[in-house]
Amino acid sequence: MSLTLDLSRTPIAAPVNLSGLTREGLRAALVEAGICPPEKAKMRASQVWGWIHHYGVTDFAAMTNVAKDTQARLAAAFTLARPEVVERQVSNDGTRKWLIRTALGIEIETVYIPDVGRAGALCVSSQVGCTLNCTFCHTGTQKLVRNLTAAEIVAQVQVARDDLGEWPSPKEDRRLSNIVFMGMGEPLYNLDHVADAVDIIADNEGIAISRRRITVSTSGVVPMIPELGERTQTMLAISLHATNDPLRDVLVPLNKKYPLDQLMAAIRAYPGLSNARRVTFEYVMLKGVNDSPEEARALLNLIKGIPAKINLIPFNPWPGTDYQCSDWKTIERFAAILNKAGYASPIRTPRGRDILAACGQLKSESEKVRASALRKAERAAA
Ligand code: SAH
Ligand code: SF4
Repeated sequence: MSLTLDLSRTPIAAPVNLSGLTREGLRAALVEAGICPPEKAKMRASQVWGWIHHYGVTDFAAMTNVAKDTQARLAAAFTLARPEVVERQVSNDGTRKWLIRTALGIEIETVYIPDVGRAGALCVSSQVGCTLNCTFCHTGTQKLVRNLTAAEIVAQVQVARDDLGEWPSPKEDRRLSNIVFMGMGEPLYNLDHVADAVDIIADNEGIAISRRRITVSTSGVVPMIPELGERTQTMLAISLHATNDPLRDVLVPLNKKYPLDQLMAAIRAYPGLSNARRVTFEYVMLKGVNDSPEEARALLNLIKGIPAKINLIPFNPWPGTDYQCSDWKTIERFAAILNKAGYASPIRTPRGRDILAACGQLKSESEKVRASALRKAERAAA
């Protein structure tokens, strides 16, 4: 007997996950699916919204103030299912990392970094891989797989909240208090989805993490910076890493397209900057490359007049890289120059190193570990 596979038929499209729709999108989807007439859409969407984003429900049957037949029609047309969490790791220092599979070949890493007290930041990814190839970044050695959808970005927050036990949305004293787009990928190359996800996450009747607590980090996609500010009103972080064009051309090759003078002009024009809303400059400390006292002074000169804080990131080495992390004394000397000039410049202590959750190491490292475990298992089996 032989089986024939009919490849001519198109696969049935997966139902839309309502978690990835903005309020407007949700209203339109409910009307289009015949769940309610247009004049009732605002009220119905608001009701469903609260269940999804305030209570975090994953089952339409839990929406107790929605009639049973409407629940059934919602369930027939849409889904609220969470993606699969393939791996969950908790570091000695409390850092948590989840590997989330949203589709075949789409695995996303998300990291929760506890801060002082109960608060903490969730580091989310905006793409799988990256089209840019910053020479010190491991993600940059991977090809772009694709942009994440708004649903996939929101899902990272939902998975973290599930695990931290933060439903319904607590009013205060939250463990997940901040969000940083500093995982895999360049958020400004996926601004439509990032902006939708921010609208969803920041909504007051839902997850309600305010825009001032959401930071989007870019390697310097200059033409998109004004739009980021206008559309999202989020806090801006810039991966600077060098204070002159020849060096930045090497470290962040996108600099050749958008050099420092253009980048600094776009930063200065970012809407809403003030002492309460500062730009974060990220500066990875690379031994003998960008870590001299002269460079610290050049950095001060470059950012003069901009309400700013500076994050000094000790370089996280990865297999095959030629860069090394600056010595601790060198980093402290660099930080002291910035501090003396009045800048808050915390040295970002590497977190979650034992679970490979550090900056610039996401996904590719754990993929390697899994691949090597697989090879080991294969060898053992042979
Ligand atoms: N693509 C965006 C956001 C993701 S990268 C951007 O580049 O800003 C998040 C931060 O991690 C950036 O500042 C990046 O430069 C930094 N980073 C990347 N690789 C690193 C490494 N190996 N060690 C330390 N920081 C790294
Ligand atoms: Fe991409 Fe950011 Fe890594 Fe550069 S540092 S390769 S922009 S993820």
